[in-house]
Amino acid sequence: MLKRKNLVFLGPPGAGKGTLSTMLLDEYPLAHISTGDILRKEIANQTELGLKAKEYMNKGQLVPDEVVAGMVASRLKDQDCENGFILDGFPRTVNQAELLEKALQNAGKSLDAVIYFNADDELLLKRLTARLSCKCGAVFNKLFSPPKQENICDKCDGELYQRPDDSLETALDRLKVYYDQTQPLIGYYQSKGLLSEIDSALPQPQAYAMLLKGLN
Ligand code: AMP
Repeated sequence: MLKRKNLVFLGPPGAGKGTLSTMLLDEYPLAHISTGDILRKEIANQTELGLKAKEYMNKGQLVPDEVVAGMVASRLKDQDCENGFILDGFPRTVNQAELLEKALQNAGKSLDAVIYFNADDELLLKRLTARLSCKCGAVFNKLFSPPKQENICDKCDGELYQRPDDSLETALDRLKVYYDQTQPLIGYYQSKGLLSEIDSALPQPQAYAMLLKGLN
């Protein structure tokens, strides 16, 4: 088992947090808590929360802190989080990080590591605008990791689609939101001695090897 298993994956959209999560989850029984995935499920189910969240998400803006922090606090109480968890895309503001600290305290847990995925804007925009997603959660990329059959998911044969917020215009908005609101978390977690960094431009096997080194 990993030495560090209560984890936050931090970084700009398109940095590979989801991809490396999937690789780690193939090997270790951690719970995957992606706030983006949870919100997209709420939208697909047309819940009240989903309808509200959609307005923010389609503009590339953040859903209000209390809403996402509440979702995460209740998810952290689930049994599967006992083995460890990856918080993928949460927290995204210092306020969310503080709310997370309280939620973890209430659940008798604490963070072991925060992995910061560092990448430059050019690479991020290239990745985001070429990304193809599937309803089953699988993610491909037209340029870097295309599906075997054009627009068809390798895992479930579902039709692939471009997320509305992966358009160039919204991707640019999301990057701006990241720099304004999320980047301060790098210093926040550095000062707590929890941060380690991965260069997102590395080929996937090397990035994964670095990740494992940081967690053991
Ligand atoms: P992601 O799948 O992580 O790229 O998230 C997609 C979108 O969901 C973001 O652009 C936000 O609108 C929303 N979202 C996901 N996680 C959070 C969060 N921690 N705080 C606020 N909004 C979030």
